[in-house]
Formats: sequence, structure tokens, C-alpha cells
Amino acid sequence: MTVLVFDLGGTRMRAALVEGARIVIQAEAPTPANDGVGPVIDGLCALARGLGGAGAAGICAPGPLDVTRGLMLAPPTLRGWQDVPVAALLSERLGLPVQLENDANAAAMGEYAHGAGRGAGVLVFATVSTGIGGGIVVDGKMLRGRGGLAGEIGHMKIDSAGPECFCGRTGCFEALAAGTALARRAGRDPRAVIADARAGDAAALGHLAVHGRLLGRGFSNLLHLFAPDVLVVGGGLSNAFDLLEPHIRQGIEENAMPAYRDTPVMRAALGEAAGLIGMAHLLEEKVHG
Ligand SMILES: [Zn+2]
Repeated sequence: MTVLVFDLGGTRMRAALVEGARIVIQAEAPTPANDGVGPVIDGLCALARGLGGAGAAGICAPGPLDVTRGLMLAPPTLRGWQDVPVAALLSERLGLPVQLENDANAAAMGEYAHGAGRGAGVLVFATVSTGIGGGIVVDGKMLRGRGGLAGEIGHMKIDSAGPECFCGRTGCFEALAAGTALARRAGRDPRAVIADARAGDAAALGHLAVHGRLLGRGFSNLLHLFAPDVLVVGGGLSNAFDLLEPHIRQGIEENAMPAYRDTPVMRAALGEAAGLIGMAHLLEEKVHG
């Protein structure tokens, strides 16, 4: 089955036709994030027009969301989006039913169905970029929780004396260990830190060591809670996974009980396609039961 999938991010939006784990064709454009809802919906429809026909459609977008009602509640990256019925707006324009899904959940499902966590009984997915998001798949199903709000792993409080988080509290995992936190500590863009570290710069390697241990601290909480068969790490910072991994392991050694310490921690396999492929999987499941 060919499905049409949108990925709406704060800076970029994409549309793709997906068949199983294969992206048949895709198109992308910058998100007009400051222009309100109308231009974004127009932009998504314009991207879809160039792709061709599909039997079902879905959109993955940043939370918090009401998945059952197809509402985007108040995404921090899209200012002014309050209770926007994005699924209905797209459905009306496309003449297709449209399912809405949290982007981290969709990526978790992509990694479960076709990526680094294929077939895991319990998969915990962490996406580490500007913020930290997560998704938990148990026996092939998303763990959704009340109101679909499960999996906000970025807002576990892991240091009560830690820095302020955009959510208004302090010491959240995200405030300590997202790419933004790395940039704050290193005084430069995470991409520059990673490039310097690859060139052997001692200060940059030191920043990644501190960062990896903080990630390991937060991941230890997830290991204790979910005892996953695998913890999969995606997002922009996973580009430095090879450099971070020994320090993530050290953070887990320091913070997790012995029985949890040998949990495999792997880099996401699908990269930026994880959300699109996971959304397609969810749509196919819905059709085929
Ligand atoms: Zn927070």
C-alpha cells in the first residue's frame, strides 16, 4: 500500500509517498513557522500535489497532541498554534482521511518496524536534538498513556539544581542533555563541537564526554522503568553516537543498577526517514487491523 506522509517540523516540512520501508518520492520546504496555520497547510498541500496518489495519509508533528481528535495543542516550535485541527484541515483539502501522530512516536515505530529495534519486545526510542523526545513500543504497540501523553522523556527531572527548561521547570533531562545544552556548555553549535571533536580537539571531546555521561544518567532512569530490550538513540546528536557511546555507557554504569547495565544502546538506523516510515507503518496497521 502506498501512503502519503507529512512530517511537520519547526524549521522544515516534508511530504513523501511511502511503501513499507521505502520512500518512493519526497519533497520538502522550509516551514513558514511565523505565518500562522493557513500558509503551513497550503505549503503541505503544495508539496503533496507533486507526488502522486495515495490510499491513506498521515502527519507526524511535534507534541503535545491530541491524537484521537487530530489536534495540535501548543507545539513550542510553532508559535500561536493552539488546538489546531491539523488532521481535519488536511483531510478536507486532500479528500483523504488523515491520521495525526507525535513525531517521536512515529520515529520509534519506524525503528521498531524497519530499523535498529526490529522485533524488540520493549523498545525505548530517544531523539536528541534541539530538545529530547521519546517513544516507547511494547509488543509492537505504542505506549500511549492517558490522553496519548506517554513518553515525554525529555521532562524527567534529573537534577533539581539544573538549568531552566522551556517547559518552565528546572533540571529536566532535556535542559541538561539536549543539543541546546551542549551548545550552551561548549559556547558553539553542536555541529561545530562534533566536527572539532572529530578533528581531535581536546576541549570538544571533553564536552562530548560530559554530555554522554548526562545522557547515560537520563537513560538509566528509562532502563529502570521499562527494562527495554534495546534503547535506540536518534536525532541530530546521534550523528556523534560513536563519540558519545563510551560516555553514555559510563553514565549508565554510574547510575543504573547492575542488572540493567548491559542493555544494548544503539544508534537509530533510519535517520531522518524514521518518522515517515513509522507513520506509514501505523497507517498500514490501521488498514489491515
Ligand atoms: Zn522540561
